[in-house]
Amino acid sequence: MTATLIDGKGLAARLTDDLKARVARCEAAGHKPGLAVVLVGENPASQVYVRNKIRACERAGVTSIEHRLPESTTEAELLALIHDLNQDPMVDGILVQLPLPAHLSADLVIDAISPEKDVDGFHVQSAGSLLTGRPGFLPCTPYGVMKLLEEAGCDPNGKHAVVVGRSNIVGKPQALLLLEKNATVTVAHSRTPDLGAVTRQADIIVMAVGRAKMLKGDMVKPGAVIIDVGMNRDENGKLCGDVDTADVMEVAGAVTPVPGGVGPMTIAMLITNTVEAVERRLGL
Ligand code: NDP
Repeated sequence: MTATLIDGKGLAARLTDDLKARVARCEAAGHKPGLAVVLVGENPASQVYVRNKIRACERAGVTSIEHRLPESTTEAELLALIHDLNQDPMVDGILVQLPLPAHLSADLVIDAISPEKDVDGFHVQSAGSLLTGRPGFLPCTPYGVMKLLEEAGCDPNGKHAVVVGRSNIVGKPQALLLLEKNATVTVAHSRTPDLGAVTRQADIIVMAVGRAKMLKGDMVKPGAVIIDVGMNRDENGKLCGDVDTADVMEVAGAVTPVPGGVGPMTIAMLITNTVEAVERRLGL
């Protein structure tokens, strides 16, 4: 068996293009969707992510409003900006690029964002809505993973899904979304003694760890669908995921590549949430 590669880049481009019609409907109702993008400091990876998010806004016809702040920004200054953006009628979504410099509390800053503008889905109210099945913004990466499964023709209903990683932004919400789609979900993490014994039982594996190529072919059940959230550098400095793609290819049914898998989908879901924020507000 040779696994199918799930084309996240292509899917993200299609979803972003599909948003144009929804953006046009918002404009016809009197408002062009706007996303405020806040970047503090000079982290090179963050600069690339922010650039890609702004490009995706342009592609969908969403206005992006950039706020680049120096590394020395104080918590009070950043909170004051968030407060202004919460009040600004031109801003429908607020994205604070993480990680923040060490002297700033991400929890404090994220929880200062109005839940109606929390298009990253990181606010504690968004997390609570997801947990309790109420409407709210879904965190973009796990949301994108669900779209990738759909694209691969993989319905989680009745399947055994193993999520490796339990962070607040990927692993935990991912497990909840899979549960909501009626998968039987196992969450593995750094204290799981024999990871391969767990992943070998999975019909669906979501890798969200941050360790280059840790999932090997002998840890995978034949035909499993594998979604690789990880973003790492390999021994040659090349971008790679948590999955040893070449090694799992002969065993798995489908796998997302890195780059070109989950990354572009995260951005597409961010823009989707921004447009949805306007639709909710205008009752479209
Ligand atoms: P975190 O570092 O917050 O979480 C990593 C998780 O992996 C933890 O729960 C940790 O367990 C677990 N873990 C660590 N080592 C092992 C191990 N040996 N076996 C099993 N589990 C292990 O990372 P994030 O969730 O923020 O991100 C994960 C990866 O996804 C990173 O590479 C990140 O860059 C990438 N990412 C990609 C995005 C995209 O858009 N493509 C978006 C967000 C993240 P424990 O809790 O026990 O410490």
